[in-house]
Amino acid sequence: MSHYKTPIDNLNFVLFDVLNAAQLAQLPGFEDATEDMLQAIIAEAAKLAENVLLPINHDGDQQGCTYDPQSKLVTTPKGFKEAYQTYKEGGWSALSAKPEAGGQGLPHLLKMVVDEMVCSSNLSFGMYPGLSHGAIDCLTEHGDDYLQSVYLPKLVAGEWTGTMCLTEPQCGTDLGLITTKAIPVADGTYEISGTKIWITGGEQDLVDNIIHLVLAKLPDAPEGSRGISLFLVPKVLPDGTRNPAFCGGLEHKMGIKGSATCVMNFENAKGWLVGEPNKGLKCMFTMMNASRIMVGIQGLGLAETAYQVSLGFAKDRLQSRSLSGPSNPQGKADPIIVHPDVRRMLLRQKVIVEGARAMAYWTGLHLDISHAHADEAQRQRSEDIVQLMTPIVKAFLTDEGYSSCDQALQSMGGAGFTQDWPVEQLMRDGRIARIYEGTNGIQALDLVGRKLPMHGGRLARTYFAELETMLSGITDSTHQNACRQFIKTLQGTLAWLMSNAKDAEQAAAGATPLLRMFALTTLAVFWAHMAQTSRQANVIGKYRPEFLTGKQKAADHFYRLFQAEMSTLAADVQAGKESLMALSEAEF
Ligand SMILES: Cc1cc2nc3c(=O)[nH]c(=O)nc-3n(C[C@H](O)[C@H](O)[C@H](O)COP(=O)(O)OP(=O)(O)OC[C@H]3O[C@@H](n4cnc5c(N)ncnc54)[C@H](O)[C@@H]3O)c2cc1C
Repeated sequence: MSHYKTPIDNLNFVLFDVLNAAQLAQLPGFEDATEDMLQAIIAEAAKLAENVLLPINHDGDQQGCTYDPQSKLVTTPKGFKEAYQTYKEGGWSALSAKPEAGGQGLPHLLKMVVDEMVCSSNLSFGMYPGLSHGAIDCLTEHGDDYLQSVYLPKLVAGEWTGTMCLTEPQCGTDLGLITTKAIPVADGTYEISGTKIWITGGEQDLVDNIIHLVLAKLPDAPEGSRGISLFLVPKVLPDGTRNPAFCGGLEHKMGIKGSATCVMNFENAKGWLVGEPNKGLKCMFTMMNASRIMVGIQGLGLAETAYQVSLGFAKDRLQSRSLSGPSNPQGKADPIIVHPDVRRMLLRQKVIVEGARAMAYWTGLHLDISHAHADEAQRQRSEDIVQLMTPIVKAFLTDEGYSSCDQALQSMGGAGFTQDWPVEQLMRDGRIARIYEGTNGIQALDLVGRKLPMHGGRLARTYFAELETMLSGITDSTHQNACRQFIKTLQGTLAWLMSNAKDAEQAAAGATPLLRMFALTTLAVFWAHMAQTSRQANVIGKYRPEFLTGKQKAADHFYRLFQAEMSTLAADVQAGKESLMALSEAEF
């Protein structure tokens, strides 16, 4: 059953009409990234998603991965190996990697778009190359010449894959508690011993070698998170011998069943230090912006598919008559899309998916500008946006991606709950994205505790200045006023937070609603921007008329839906910690 079509019009509209992504071709190093080139690559990625990855998604979920305790090897679901071969041969692993390492050096923004399609069609599959990209970024930034020359070309070519080995049974969020050890050896390498859990792609049959990036502690390491170092531990050593880094079993889990989630035992495995001793967390953080944004994109991709499925269903399924008179008089009933309550669910999905896409790709555009722009001041402004928006994109897109799938399922009635339709799988697959790569609660604390105070509040100032620039082009006074109201409510709440943040618990108590306020405010401005763009002379004629009028009407609905919630969220933040912290443990 084919249930996903790449939303080409929506992608083009956001990328080239709203965000003017064609500006990337003017940046040094991105000269090839013209609109034509980007569109051609997106069209190729659409074929990969629809023809290669989508057809193996349902069976991959049913079949899952299997573990053989004798060989300690893992087999991925049927078709995954062949699909990975196609992915590799298509050069998709090399898309945004640096040319020095064999990459194509194309914008991160383009990679995000491709990631969206991959996640829309098969999230489990996308996990394998997804983790490799994190390893590539980390080695490019922190690996020495030896590690870069031996490992980067193979990772970039997709011949080998990478993992991130952080979590241990006693620690996930608080990595200062890790106990995996690294003992220095005379030849300059290290012996790594310890157990990591829930390691994505820790063992699999897609490639011959798996490159683990492992957090461990040196013998003389300081206590806590200041004493963590990062090591590269290959499954197969450069001389061809097997390194004792074995899979001890697979997790049985709620979703992404085609993605191998492994216990990994390091039994004095040979490793190489990446970056400086005790600075492992810093190394990990450099790859986190891209990785966290990527997880946000997972939520978006799943929500897009769920929206397509539920929209198609609502146009086909006949139940009851429209309250304003039959819309399908020849049939025995009208399609359920006539009913206000079904429309409520569909329209909520539409404003979230299309608004969140604009927010995510705006952040991706700034990620590229922050790396490549010739002007240092512009690089810094873009870096400010990326730093501030990363936890917001990760948390909001995964929270709302999941809720969006839930709206889709509900709008389909019992059919949505059955495995005859893909939405129940999308919901199960998407649930984890709110947890890994730092839970969404931790994203909110990152926003409030790190990003807002950073550089004396400069990140938020840059953010509001960017919103002002966008708003200056909005001629619709209703949209303009609505956006001003969102911004005013957010700024008022930030002012309250600043005068109360001396008590860290007060700030932490309001972190989650505050993150949501940032997201909704950003979407408010983007919906005004999209509605404005849809009326531009150079845009009319490029798209179906209904595509454009749909943007304008959806913008109106966005404000109706979320304006009141902004006030509720502001009240939640300003209620502070009192009622949260009032109960003793025994009173729960
Ligand atoms: C399918 C899957 C794949 C994964 N892939 C990988 C992987 O490839 N590599 C890897 O290293 N790990 C991986 N993980 C682990 C994942 O990153 C962790 O589950 C996640 O970081 C949360 O850690 P935890 O589960 O130990 O939760 P805990 O840290 O125990 O947290 C439990 C709850 O307490 C909250 N909490 C904790 N501390 C605080 C605090 N200071 N303030 C407020 N709230 C707090 C959390 O938000 C959460 O709600 C994976 C997990 C799963 C399930």
